[in-house]
Amino acid sequence: MPLSPDQQAEIDAQRSAPAQTLRATVPGMEAHLYTAHPVLDHGFVRVIDYMGDDSAICQAARVSYGRGTKSVQNDEGLIRYLMRHWHSTPFEMCEIKLHVKLPVFVARQWIRHRTANVNEYSARYSILDREFYIPAPDALNAQSQVNNQGRGELLEGDEAARVLELLKADSTRAYDHYQDMISQENGQQGLARELARMNLPANIYTQWYWKVDLHNLLHFLRLRADAHAQYEIRVYADAMCKIVADWVPFAYKAFEDYRLGAVTMSSQMMDCLRRMLAGETVTEENCGMSKREWREFQGVLS
Ligand SMILES: Cc1cc2nc3c(=O)[nH]c(=O)nc-3n(C[C@H](O)[C@H](O)[C@H](O)COP(=O)(O)OP(=O)(O)OC[C@H]3O[C@@H](n4cnc5c(N)ncnc54)[C@H](O)[C@@H]3O)c2cc1C
Repeated sequence: MPLSPDQQAEIDAQRSAPAQTLRATVPGMEAHLYTAHPVLDHGFVRVIDYMGDDSAICQAARVSYGRGTKSVQNDEGLIRYLMRHWHSTPFEMCEIKLHVKLPVFVARQWIRHRTANVNEYSARYSILDREFYIPAPDALNAQSQVNNQGRGELLEGDEAARVLELLKADSTRAYDHYQDMISQENGQQGLARELARMNLPANIYTQWYWKVDLHNLLHFLRLRADAHAQYEIRVYADAMCKIVADWVPFAYKAFEDYRLGAVTMSSQMMDCLRRMLAGETVTEENCGMSKREWREFQGVLS
């Protein structure tokens, strides 16, 4: 369970105290506010706060005095134009603050996105919970044979069972030692928490508040909701995509069309495509691209 009954009660209390505001609000986002969406075995994503909506993007683009909306169709058209032509700053006018609980090895990938504001749970000050990510059997794969940075077939049978046992046993053992070292019972002084944490494995959960503007959030989602991203961060990105779709539906649809579902082609790829459309048989040998790029081109076409 990602939330204890006490934590759930705190969230319920927060949700039961609405405040009036003159600021733009979005019904879909109000429904998300504070609610924890479970991810992996102990993780979650929840919206703590947000600023702006689709019309705030148009308002900024038009630098208008009022809401900036001319008509709904007009707004959608403008947002799609902005996205298509890489006008980024109007999207930076919307912001979101999330509370995320995630394994440390996922956090290491996530923190590489520098254009956000982060505050992480302090394992110098607090004692970490005994919560470790143990993959579900359908997320336990062998090393990929074609991609060094990826996974292949599912592990099966005895090997899968043995790996799961090792992961559980190592996590348990490391946490038992952590507790033992920080304990002040039986005459022990108790090792400082900031030192004791060093023996904890990278599948232990951490938490942070993560605040980012919509432009940089969409950049994060384009990279991390992509099939090339590791499954364990992709599931967080997928949960966030659903939230963004409810927050700024026009911007999210434009993002799906012009980023998520779009492809970039090199000039060599475009040349091959033109030759193919003209009826020429283009092959790996006469394409003028490296073997890898040709494979990527085939991937784009299929
Ligand atoms: C599939 C995948 C595999 C990866 N593999 C590896 C790996 O093997 N090793 C590894 O180290 N990383 C790896 N990464 C991380 C990747 O290289 C980026 O660090 C990460 O995705 C953050 O991207 P970003 O810098 O664009 O994002 P952000 O830090 O959010 O930056 C957004 C944009 O702001 C600009 N920007 C931000 N800060 C600066 C700056 N200081 N100077 C100039 N411009 C700036 C850039 O235009 C940048 O694209 C991988 C990422 C992915 C998605």
